[in-house]
Amino acid sequence: MTLDGTAIDLYANIEVPDDVVQVKASGASGIGLYRTEFLFMNRREAPNEEEQFEAYKAVAEAMDGKPVTIRTLDLGADKQMNADTERTCTNPALGLRAIRLCLAEPQMFHIQLRALLRASAFGNIKILIPMLSSLTELRQTLLLIERAKQSLRVQKIGFNNEIEVGGMIEIPAAALCAEAFAKELDFLSIGTNDLIQYSLAIDRTDDSVSHLYNPLHPAILQLIEITLKAGLKLGKKVSVCGEMAGDSKLTRLLLGLGLRQFSMHPSHILSVKHQVLQSDLVKLVPTARKILSSHDSDKIEPLLQKMNL
Ligand code: PEP
Ligand code: MG
Repeated sequence: MTLDGTAIDLYANIEVPDDVVQVKASGASGIGLYRTEFLFMNRREAPNEEEQFEAYKAVAEAMDGKPVTIRTLDLGADKQMNADTERTCTNPALGLRAIRLCLAEPQMFHIQLRALLRASAFGNIKILIPMLSSLTELRQTLLLIERAKQSLRVQKIGFNNEIEVGGMIEIPAAALCAEAFAKELDFLSIGTNDLIQYSLAIDRTDDSVSHLYNPLHPAILQLIEITLKAGLKLGKKVSVCGEMAGDSKLTRLLLGLGLRQFSMHPSHILSVKHQVLQSDLVKLVPTARKILSSHDSDKIEPLLQKMNL
């Protein structure tokens, strides 16, 4: 809780089921991002439905009713299934990755969706779709989720029919159209790592341009603001699950912009919680608005420092 009594959710990001031990020790309110692609990486064959089901079920059961947000496969670009695979496209970050790959490989996606849905009978699982850029992709995905549900119904296999489906906002086009996405989804999650990469045209894996990778760029703050506003208008929760959420120097700014759900590596939860406990939203909001209306990065830094005093 902030000093003025506003409840804030601090969730954890995980990559493999064993990470849950650290999540529980961190005191997180749940899992805000389970990156399932790690189950698929560094191997030749994709895991079958049973292996995936066991992994998702183990996490759901270990979290004991707390939310577990499982992201569907975000393979491609910096996360290849087989590191030896020769890259055939010149620009993998703009290529067939994440939800695009899943829609191009519906059988592989069907297996993951069935595994996720089956696991939803054992805990509080939500589905999160990565890299959405258009409503067409979202609608195709929702159709495939329905198809996976139907296949389980036919086999009389249990699942949570009301399972929530959320979308990652990590492409500028999606942030600009956040309201349209919020209408057809249960929640949104801002992936600032990719949002920064795509908005500023900076390869997040290229050290030679890492000095330009700036979360405080006015354009990034505007895109976050648009997304938060869309969630507020439509009554849908919005979280940030990129690195920005775990940077305690940015906690007050994000709170002042209206963020109430943060998801981060479990090792950052304590320092972010410390900031939340010492923050008074009434005082933060005016400075956050000032930062938002500044289109000059040089002015943003001193304002942020003042906010963090
Ligand atoms: C992001 O892009 O901010 C995100 C959380 O996803 P990933 O880092 O796995 O691409
Ligand atoms: Mg991403």
